[in-house]
Amino acid sequence: MTSLIIHNPANDEKIAEVAADDAASVSGKAVRARLAQPGWAARPLAQRKACIARFHQGVVRDLESLAATMTRETGKPIKMSRNELNGLLARLDFFVAMVEPVTAVETVYDEPGMNERIEHLPLGVVGNISAWNYPWFVGCNVIVPALLTGNAVLYKPSEFATLTGLEIARLLHEAGVPEDVFVPLVGAGAVGAALLEEKLDGLFFTGSHATGARIAQTVGSRFMKLQLELGGKDPTYVCDDADPAAAAASLADGAMYNTGQSCCSVERIYVHEKIHDGFVAAFVATVKGFKTGDPMSQDTYIGPLTRAAQLEVLDAQVADAKAKGARLLTGGQRLPGPGNWYAPTVFSDVHHGMALMREESFGPIIGIQKVASDEEAVRLMNDTRYGLTAGVYTPNGERAQAVLSRVNAGSLYWNCCDRVSPRLPWSGFGDSGVGLTLSTYGIQAFTRPRAWHLKSAG
Ligand code: NAD
Repeated sequence: MTSLIIHNPANDEKIAEVAADDAASVSGKAVRARLAQPGWAARPLAQRKACIARFHQGVVRDLESLAATMTRETGKPIKMSRNELNGLLARLDFFVAMVEPVTAVETVYDEPGMNERIEHLPLGVVGNISAWNYPWFVGCNVIVPALLTGNAVLYKPSEFATLTGLEIARLLHEAGVPEDVFVPLVGAGAVGAALLEEKLDGLFFTGSHATGARIAQTVGSRFMKLQLELGGKDPTYVCDDADPAAAAASLADGAMYNTGQSCCSVERIYVHEKIHDGFVAAFVATVKGFKTGDPMSQDTYIGPLTRAAQLEVLDAQVADAKAKGARLLTGGQRLPGPGNWYAPTVFSDVHHGMALMREESFGPIIGIQKVASDEEAVRLMNDTRYGLTAGVYTPNGERAQAVLSRVNAGSLYWNCCDRVSPRLPWSGFGDSGVGLTLSTYGIQAFTRPRAWHLKSAG
């Protein structure tokens, strides 16, 4: 077996070396999961729910060490690691509470002589190839409803969040999920690619558009259920009747939280010309107040980027924006290493000819563009191939409704941003993906409906 070396992105130090999978071990695990799945599905739902309830207790018990592990391997500031774990608990509770009503047999017609019912079967063995930026959230959005509904899961955490992935596996196994029913696969893209070669009934992917497109091509002719949760270039519009300081404080957080590495980070801001200058001043002041430093410190807000390669993406976007006339208001360069450090960066005077306003940045960088009307804002918000989230800031609910209802995005925010709710479906339009997680639809996604036509004899 090969091994995977894990580095701390805050200082480049090696923190672990773990045994990695190869194509042969992936195959063996897939065969064992296939054999184990029917027994898991045959258990009473109450037993599967009890496993997730014990998993919840394990996360609560180990929260501090789980947060520290996530911070060491991803660079996520420790407060945000704790936030993610605490936020996870409500998602677990939601899935446990809703799985029964969502998967109960439905009688949809019942007349003398004829009864029609829908039964919800598990898909079978599903693969989950996951991202590193919110490894507990994006992992458990798939893993937990998949297990609750009776599936076996082959889970390939990101190579940048492997220790967290192994902790998820440890806690699920401790909670009573059999080792062949929840199976972690360790490694980078090649291990994900090996998983695609196995017989699967569903493949649930969270990651970049480029990898998602490659996966869709690979499995396209195999007729397995495929969900892709991909990137975004999420816009927000600040209207002229908004409070510029309040909107700036909220949006600076939405753009820079988790060092800008959220799928729903605010990535483009349009501000009405009447309040543009005040907004920009307040935004830059807020960003300058963010503390950059050791992600293990309680008061750190900006940590390192998780992946060194993203520094080059940010360098290129900054150079392109400057060359095309954008105004750099703060940041704009790497910070001294070791580690993957980038100064929080704000540009104004940007336009859609710049990569900064078109391609996902996935870092602490933002462009702010002046607009003259709601019409112009809507046109620019829709000038993208992505469609994950979009927002508007205004005290006027009717105006917000009029703007947002014309924007192509899976989640719409009024006076808020960078927010996910377990009760609402999480899905992308356009190149942000296909399928969804969360909400009752995100439980049903792991089931296959079967139709029963029951005609009584005689
Ligand atoms: P990535 O595409 O680089 O990697 C994602 C996963 O795919 C990893 O586990 C990786 O090992 C695996 N992989 C890579 N090549 C593969 C291949 N050829 N076959 C199979 N698997 C392969 O993405 P990332 O850097 O981990 O995540 C960042 C991206 O994820 C951003 O674009 C972000 O917007 C997106 N994201 C989206 C959501 C959402 O809900 N829509 C949530 C979180 C992150």
